[in-house]
Amino acid sequence: MRLAAHLQPMLAELARRERVGAGALKKEEQAERDTLEALLAERAEERNARAASQMSTEDQRWAVSRIEADMRKLTRREKANVQALGATTDPEVRRDLEHDLRSTRSKLKEQQKLLREAERKVSAAEMNTMATGAESDELDRKIETAERAVAAAQHATEAAEASNNERVAEIRAELPEEAVRLYDTSSSAFGAAFFNGRTCGGCSIILPAAQASAIMSAPADSVPTCPECGTYLVRERG
Ligand SMILES: [Zn+2]
Repeated sequence: MRLAAHLQPMLAELARRERVGAGALKKEEQAERDTLEALLAERAEERNARAASQMSTEDQRWAVSRIEADMRKLTRREKANVQALGATTDPEVRRDLEHDLRSTRSKLKEQQKLLREAERKVSAAEMNTMATGAESDELDRKIETAERAVAAAQHATEAAEASNNERVAEIRAELPEEAVRLYDTSSSAFGAAFFNGRTCGGCSIILPAAQASAIMSAPADSVPTCPECGTYLVRERG
């Protein structure tokens, strides 16, 4: 390729911009998106856990109210027994009533124990729900931060892409048509790259000394190609 020496660095720049573009920023943006997604997944899991914990609180509360209802019935029966005992002297009736009173009181005692246990479970479930609620607030804040980071990264990528595309168009307009045509139809995946005197900036192969010096001594207004990959090699100067 013939190309004035002062235009050659633009050819390498064009190839780099077209190949890499805003790639580094895109990677950063993706990393921010990955962080956000992980947090959203965590929140979904946490919400399920909270729903389960709320359900268990309701179950426990229901158990408490059932025990309380049983206890009210037993208390009424106890009262009725006591009243009936006060109203009768018949030994056989009294024996039955006393037996029933004892059994009612023992049942009451039993229910009292169950009630304490159920109330303990309610407060444990409530504490659990509160704890997950606090975690959830913290998670919401993290998600907000991550969403802002994604938006900022996306904005940076878009801005970089726009300025990159602008510069690409500028270079393409500035370079001679024939050079652009040869570059566009190059068989190399890299198109063009800088040559530091030893290593191809495209395929990264260190060229044998004879090949390297042939490239270095080619006419200044020509762009030689890498014998390994065909990339147009722009010699670095100074
Ligand atoms: Zn090469």
